[in-house]
Order: sequence, then structure tokens, then C-alpha cells
Amino acid sequence: MKTEALFCQDAYLRSCEARIICVDGDGLLLDRTVFYPQGGGQAGDSGWLTLDDGTRLRIADTRKGKSSGSGPGDALHVPDVGQASLQAKLAEGQLVYAEIDWERRYQHMRLHTAAHLLCAVLPFPVDGCSITADYARLDFVTSDPLSRDSIDVALADLVARRTVVSIDTMSNEALEVNPDLVRTMSVKPPVGTRQVRLVRIEGVDVQPCGGTHVANTSEVGTVRVAKMEKKTARTRRVVLVLE
Ligand SMILES: [Zn+2]
Repeated sequence: MKTEALFCQDAYLRSCEARIICVDGDGLLLDRTVFYPQGGGQAGDSGWLTLDDGTRLRIADTRKGKSSGSGPGDALHVPDVGQASLQAKLAEGQLVYAEIDWERRYQHMRLHTAAHLLCAVLPFPVDGCSITADYARLDFVTSDPLSRDSIDVALADLVARRTVVSIDTMSNEALEVNPDLVRTMSVKPPVGTRQVRLVRIEGVDVQPCGGTHVANTSEVGTVRVAKMEKKTARTRRVVLVLE
């Protein structure tokens, strides 16, 4: 990987200085970034890059790198449309000030953490997950009837416990002997890496995850089930929203 992923160490980092290492028609890569690339069900960050002369380039989305110069998993910053004249000013080696849309990202962090809490409330395999600024949607493999009210109460209880959310690592070998830790059937942790990033909500939920989370469950605030439906004969879809 060519890009230092600062959001992995500190999800609360809103901005950083960085150098452009690659720029083409698809977007640009930085040597370090606070922008989370879409992955693990979580939406990519949007924000701004400010050049030395004060020019601000709006970044509409961040994806896992497909650019010619990128390594696998690198954050590709995709500029919003209609900024061709600004993009023409970009060059490799240039220094930029990178800043995410923090309000949007903080919603991702709160809803992503709420999704982990939901996994503790509903102990079924997860067959799909989508986290945006407006909702978290999870598909659980179960044919059990689910109660919207009891889920709301259980989530409120977990939020009220004010539990610390910490980041840990585990070796791939250790994970292989603890396969139960992998909750999301469609979002496997990256293979080939020797260390797997683990998100631990002590006494509540532990699972490999590369996303961004709040530091304490209290930050999730009021969360409730907005929608619950039978997606297939064997899966139940639950959509969470924040108040
Ligand atoms: Zn997560």
C-alpha cells in the first residue's frame, strides 16, 4: 500500500497535510490521508483538498484505488464533476491540505458503531451491510421473528453503558482458529495481511473491521430501528437511523 491510512489510527482526525503521489482521470492518490475509502459496507468520505494558492477542490467520494499508480486498497480521491480547470492545476509531488466532511463522517462513525451493537443484539450471521450518513442497513441470516421494540430497548441499553470502543490487532493465524469472530459473511477481512484489525466493544462485541468507529458507545446517541423486513426466506433486513 502506498498511502498511509491515518484514519486507521485515529478516526477523529479531520485533516492532514499530504503530497500527491499520482493523479489521473480517475482521481488522485496521496502519500497519507484522512479520507476513508468505501469498503466493509461503509461509504467513502467526501471533503476538500486545498492547494498552496488557496484553490479548493471538492472531493465527492473516496474509493479503493483503481488508479494506474495505486496499490490495492489505496484511497483514490475522486473529485466532484465540473472542476476540470482546478484538476488541471494538480501535479505529482504537490503538497495539499486534505480535509474531510466531518459532519458526514461522524454520522458514518456513529452508525457504524451502532451496527456493531446491533450484531451483539442479534447474534446471527450477517449477509450484507451498508453504512451511509443517513442509515445503517444490515441483513441477518435468520428466519426467527424479530421485535423492533426489543431491539430499540437493547440498543439504548448498550449505548447507555458508555463502553469504550478500542482497536486491537490479531494475527491471521489466531483469527483462523477463532472463525466465530468473523460476523459478516460478505465482508471478509483482507487476506494476505499478517495482522487483522479488530474492533473491540468490551463485553459486547469483537470483530475484525477496517472501518471508522466512535470511541465510546455513548457517542452513538439515540438510535432506533426505522425499518425491518423479510428480505428473503432466510434473511431479515434491519435499518437503523439516528435521532
Ligand atoms: Zn466496524
